[in-house]
Amino acid sequence: MPCPDTAYRVLMVTLAPAARIDLHTHSWCSDGTEAPGVVVAQAAKAGLDVIGLTDHDVVSGWAQADAAGREQGVLVVPGIEVSCNWRGISVHLLAYLPDPHDEPLLAELSASRSSRDTRLQRMVKLLAADGYPITYDEVLEMAAAQASLGRPHIADVLVRHGVFPSRDEAFADVLSSDSRYYVAHHAPDPVHATEMIVAAGGVPVIAHPFASKRGKVVSDDLLADMADAGMVGVEVDHRDHGPSERAHAAALADRLRLVQTGSSDYHGAGKPNRLGENTTRIASLEAILERATGTGLLGAH
Ligand code: AMP
Ligand code: ZN
Ligand code: FE
Ligand code: FE
Repeated sequence: MPCPDTAYRVLMVTLAPAARIDLHTHSWCSDGTEAPGVVVAQAAKAGLDVIGLTDHDVVSGWAQADAAGREQGVLVVPGIEVSCNWRGISVHLLAYLPDPHDEPLLAELSASRSSRDTRLQRMVKLLAADGYPITYDEVLEMAAAQASLGRPHIADVLVRHGVFPSRDEAFADVLSSDSRYYVAHHAPDPVHATEMIVAAGGVPVIAHPFASKRGKVVSDDLLADMADAGMVGVEVDHRDHGPSERAHAAALADRLRLVQTGSSDYHGAGKPNRLGENTTRIASLEAILERATGTGLLGAH
């Protein structure tokens, strides 16, 4: 039997009706600035009962987060924020509790990560050619070993050299997707990724789908196609969604019978997002756990 069933029952016992749940966070296994165990400790400090650890395209933080969760009394829902691409638009698909040994899923994640590496090398070359003080070795030196690399790691080097005061300013300038230094990386189609996550026993929830401040956003029709492919939820409450975008996401979730979530998208010191600034209702978490059929274990709390 898959474990989520057990964890689900335990959860019913241990979580109070007022439990605080934040299902989208990052550690330094991708572009957060803290170790997975530290993210969990911060979550405990912030009064959270449940967090999802959802690093970009990688599962390497799960074990440490789970161990810290047992110590700190935080239930850690293991997840991945799977980078997808739809007609040139970047789509982020949260995958909760997939089997971390599922071969097709692992192959896709591995392809994304290696393409992230080569893409970052190309961006660094373009920047260096224009006189920016950066080498790929320095990017690697500043990122955690084996991290799933992204533009924030370039930002960190430029911040270190005083070119920009923070990641945010670097993103507003040379790292924006409109910039001449921008290079895209491999990312699967979102409907295909949805099917792949479901096949791996995971639960797909689209992250911040209507965050227009990030650039062009996807169509309602894409979400409908993803729902047909087995997508379970929509992240509605996220700081990059304005009030009308939240309302739109919530109405669409109702129409497509999708679960609604809310989360911080915490990146440690890499972003202003604070743990627990948006949260998910218990009923939504229960619906997500009920749909998980993989062996992406939840710790036995
Ligand atoms: P990449 O995955 O390399 O395309 O970079 C995108 C990542 O950069 C996303 O996961 C965001 O979390 C992060 N990011 C995007 N905009 C900003 C920003 N303004 N400040 C800090 N991090 C950002
Ligand atoms: Zn990120
Ligand atoms: Fe995202
Ligand atoms: Fe994220």
